[in-house]
Amino acid sequence: MDTRKRFADLAEVEPFGTKIKDTSIAMTADMNVLQINVGRLCNLACKHCHVEAGPQRTEIMSRDVMEACLRAYVSQGFNTIDITGGAPEMNPDFRWLVEEACKICGHVIVRTNLVIMLMNKKDDFRNRSRKGAFLLTNELEKPNIYRKRDEHHRLNENK
Ligand code: SF4
Repeated sequence: MDTRKRFADLAEVEPFGTKIKDTSIAMTADMNVLQINVGRLCNLACKHCHVEAGPQRTEIMSRDVMEACLRAYVSQGFNTIDITGGAPEMNPDFRWLVEEACKICGHVIVRTNLVIMLMNKKDDFRNRSRKGAFLLTNELEKPNIYRKRDEHHRLNENK
């Protein structure tokens, strides 16, 4: 479908602001998770992808914006950083972000499609996750993404 037509159709959608006034919608008083989408570049181009990521996408989060996100994490009192994409591993500053996030946050989640790890088997990223530096999760296993870090340690100790 043509992207411009889809934007035009959005005008017919009820504004989100009116939706959240609906008292039947359960809302939380807390905001604990800061999700950081570091870009739409991805090694895959899944048909179902809700951010329309793919190998040709050029939208990439800069390090400046990452730094602003980390400052927001500290100032707003979140307790979890959830890094996603696209394939976050393809952002050139991805490793820097994970390292910095782990310095200030005890619960860092990285959503991966796992396929990307087959592209560079020498990458130590998976091993570092196994050591508990951060929680690596298959983005297709949404129900598991909020496993606690301690549980993740136990899972890895059994491997
Ligand atoms: S792997 Fe994930 S981010 Fe990449 S195209 Fe598929 S659904 Fe989108």
